[in-house]
Amino acid sequence: MQPLVHFRNVNKYYGKSLAVNALDLEIERGKFVTLLGPSGCGKSTSLRMLGGFETPSSGEILLDGKDVTHLPPHKRNVNIVFQDYALFPHLTVARNIAFGLELKGMASEKIHARVMELLELVQLQEFADRMPDQLSGGQRQRVALMRALAPDPDVLLLDEPLSALDAKLRHQMQIELKSIQAHTGKTFLFVTHDQEEALTMSDVIVVMNNGRVEQKGSPHELYARPINRFVATFIGESNFLDATVVSVDGQIATLDWCGHVIHATLTGPAPRTGAHVTVALRPEAIYAVDHNPDRRIALKGRISNRLFKGNFTALTVNLNEGQSLVAQLDPVALAHLSGDDVYIGWREEDAVVLAD
Ligand code: ADP
Repeated sequence: MQPLVHFRNVNKYYGKSLAVNALDLEIERGKFVTLLGPSGCGKSTSLRMLGGFETPSSGEILLDGKDVTHLPPHKRNVNIVFQDYALFPHLTVARNIAFGLELKGMASEKIHARVMELLELVQLQEFADRMPDQLSGGQRQRVALMRALAPDPDVLLLDEPLSALDAKLRHQMQIELKSIQAHTGKTFLFVTHDQEEALTMSDVIVVMNNGRVEQKGSPHELYARPINRFVATFIGESNFLDATVVSVDGQIATLDWCGHVIHATLTGPAPRTGAHVTVALRPEAIYAVDHNPDRRIALKGRISNRLFKGNFTALTVNLNEGQSLVAQLDPVALAHLSGDDVYIGWREEDAVVLAD
């Protein structure tokens, strides 16, 4: 199926510096898609190019199969919600939402029906005649969102819209935004630097770094199968082991780590025998036990630090080979440890060979 949005080899220079580097990205219709990456990696620039607020230096942007690269914002069917969600202060809630529809010349009964439908979606029917300064931050946010959705854009662009909110409201709005997207079936393109926010809300996450896409996938794919060290570090936490490839059988690699045979799953192309690779291992994938469990991986170590985190405890384990790993243990697993000398291991499918 044709993607709704297609960035084709898009570059954006500001002076001599390359903000977006050979962006090739397809966005599927009806999905909650998030551009995730550290500050300055080109997320906003990409979003603004799709909105028509910036022009690519080269490459093309297709919207619903049509080349919109050089069209001004009002000639493409997209809408944007900014971080400061600037509502018109002198207009009521209803008139704020109606604004884009009036511009389009829609009949007033139709506008009224559409505004009421949208207010109902966010349970603000009672607030239609209020002024923006009579609303809470969360209510203003909902109105801004409905104003942007009112003209029925093909894509709604959201540039860090929650970053100004306090933690509790932000969390609430994450859930609400996600449910509005699911309810309306609209394509949302959301920008954030917050990995937890991206994991919570998205159907698809596009991880960016230095103007490039590092990996695109579902939250679960990115978490369980990060393709490289950047993604493995940016999303969640990882331990890394440097190992040498002994053999590869399908998706499973047999590796040598400090004289131990370990196994891990491939995320990219198969490395050659003898290649040096990095294995990523999530802290919660590691188990620690008192006695050698006679499993295929059982490395000996000593706990050097215990950090209580409520629902789990983070253990730093210094392995006999000299490396330290962090393991997260739940209270039951922790209760089985009598001292600081432990054996640690993991399920082979939970260790991932990174492509870089
Ligand atoms: P992000 O949204 O990931 O934080 P941006 O897309 O805003 O990143 O910025 C990408 C890079 O482009 C940064 O290095 C930033 O400083 C630069 N940049 C963004 N907008 C402009 C601009 N209008 N003029 C010059 N440089 C810019």
